[in-house]
Amino acid sequence: MQTTTFIWMDGKQVPWAEAQVHVMTHALHYGTAVFEGIRCYDTANGPMVFRLTEHVDRFFYSMGALSMTPPFTKEEITHAILNLIRSNELKSCYIRPLAYYGYKRLGPPPTDVPVQVMIATIPYDPYLGDKAARVKISSFMRIHPKSSIMGAKISGHYTNSALAVLEAHQAGYDEALLLDDRGNIAEGGAVNFFMIKNNTLITPTERSILPGITRLSLMELARDIMGIKVEEQDISPTELADADEAFFCGTATEVAVIGSIDEVMFDETAPQARALKALYGEVVLGQVSDYLSWLTPVK
Ligand code: PMP
Repeated sequence: MQTTTFIWMDGKQVPWAEAQVHVMTHALHYGTAVFEGIRCYDTANGPMVFRLTEHVDRFFYSMGALSMTPPFTKEEITHAILNLIRSNELKSCYIRPLAYYGYKRLGPPPTDVPVQVMIATIPYDPYLGDKAARVKISSFMRIHPKSSIMGAKISGHYTNSALAVLEAHQAGYDEALLLDDRGNIAEGGAVNFFMIKNNTLITPTERSILPGITRLSLMELARDIMGIKVEEQDISPTELADADEAFFCGTATEVAVIGSIDEVMFDETAPQARALKALYGEVVLGQVSDYLSWLTPVK
């Protein structure tokens, strides 16, 4: 991991090497933490954070889902993020806020365990590259929507992602596609899924996925700028054979074209997915005036 000068911990910036926790930290044992992944882009008008308000809102929603009393306000977290990017002298970066139950006692319920918060801003490390991804339908089912709170970005959910993506990698694939309890397509390990069929963008409903901020942004751009119809619906894996294009999306990945899912091959030139990817690339760099409100300047 590329390091930076400072990490923000519980209200102050500390040197990277000093940002440590006790091994008896509750979250380390039980996955009782929530986090965000946010991007800051190097735009012509200086560093800008993409959809910061939406990410901070989701961070607080996730804390609420785990019954955390936030030790900081949304404004304090927002300022801490922007100040940290400045202190680390970064033009672009990946931003990782994490709220976790700390060190007090063992046992799954984190009753009376203090909530701690950290923020790291690290150089961006691409998740899925530009090559069309080879995807494997996972033998692991996406977490049952009644087993957790799917709209919350809870650390414990990511053992399910880790198992699925490890399995896919070990079988020589780039990414996993997880099905839900009804056998419909849910999402990738840390990415949402779309397919394009008959000029319509189709994505699973919010029932068993993390409803991504990139997903929502792309749905709006497709509808309002590209004039493409968008539908949220159940997608059975058998429907993949009729799709023209498929792609994953997420903060780290942006838009990643899918070349194949198991035996089903897709058009790798993916004209509509690549057009949407290009448009998204312009929006995050502040080149589309109607969407400047999605960007928060660091300075
Ligand atoms: N699903 C999961 C499970 C994720 O971890 C992520 C990444 N946050 C996404 C989808 C995409 O969400 P976003 O567009 O908000 O990054």
